[in-house]
Amino acid sequence: MTVPSLRCADCGATYADRWRCECGHPLDYESPPLPDGPAPDPAAFDSRAGLWSFGEFLPESPLVTLGEGTTPLVDADEWDAQFKLEYVFPTGSFKDRGATTVSRAAALGVDTLVEDSSGNAGAAIATYAARAGIDAEIYVPASVKDTKLRAIRRAGATPVKTEGPRQATTDACVGAVEAGAGWYASHAWNPAFFAGTATVAYETALQRDWTAPDAVVLPLGHGTLFLGAYRGFRALREAGWIDDLPRLLGAQAAGSAPFVEALHGARAAAGDNDAADGIQIPKPVRRDQILDAIGDTDGDAIAIGRDAVEAELADLHARGFYVEPTCAVAPAALRAYRERGVLTGDEDVVVPLTGSGLKT
Ligand SMILES: [Zn+2]
Repeated sequence: MTVPSLRCADCGATYADRWRCECGHPLDYESPPLPDGPAPDPAAFDSRAGLWSFGEFLPESPLVTLGEGTTPLVDADEWDAQFKLEYVFPTGSFKDRGATTVSRAAALGVDTLVEDSSGNAGAAIATYAARAGIDAEIYVPASVKDTKLRAIRRAGATPVKTEGPRQATTDACVGAVEAGAGWYASHAWNPAFFAGTATVAYETALQRDWTAPDAVVLPLGHGTLFLGAYRGFRALREAGWIDDLPRLLGAQAAGSAPFVEALHGARAAAGDNDAADGIQIPKPVRRDQILDAIGDTDGDAIAIGRDAVEAELADLHARGFYVEPTCAVAPAALRAYRERGVLTGDEDVVVPLTGSGLKT
């Protein structure tokens, strides 16, 4: 089987496979696939294969799947937006889109996967590794929620707890990868993960008859979904299936908001939000790519505090959206963007709801 090769956008080096470039930068596909023909009729589009229905855009082959994808897009009148229910996935979060990484690992004949995660990505990688019969070691912060840890353990993966902040977990994991512990299925580094998360854009556009919304408000930590959505909408525009890119508006956790700091200064990024444990990322790996995505889409980033998240979470639950606290950051940000006039209120907005409340 041919496994697509990787390239460093920074120095131009190419590799059959590697977790990062020798120069230290993240790698991406050397030639990401694009369909030739016109957009298929939305009414006739066969989405029974879930996200793999968009195989023309996906570099990897569907070797490992649990039928993930085609999540619902529903009206959320109280928010004057559409919600994409990304918590409706086999492991309860959008991270299953990135399980395309496990298909790459299977194509490469990998024995052991290694990943670091605050919970959702670890559960996704552990679960799809179980499906593939591949061993997995998942590095997690000692503060990880028991329910997320249980999902990792029950899938037969080995959780490795690390003390200290979230970054310490990544550092320990990278150390293990460098020491030969296994193949790094990182949701921050591995380009297969972003090829998978790009499918959120294909599905959203299809569900709207090949139109992009005016804006998408997304949680922004490592930018797994943010950058994936950007790449997906760009690929759709390049293929001629949509006309315009949506504005991509990030929602960060106050106190861990490096993009807000880069765009608006330290004061705008300050505060506290340990409720949003899934996106407390001080050093995002693909920082430059994400800043470019914000620039290219007339996007922005905003920091949301704990109180706003808790209030939003209560509203979401009361309206039937049973999501986890990190997920409430994006709808809370939608409110804040409108209050600040970044959004006027006339736009057509989509907000992905990223993780299930059943794991918290
Ligand atoms: Zn390089």
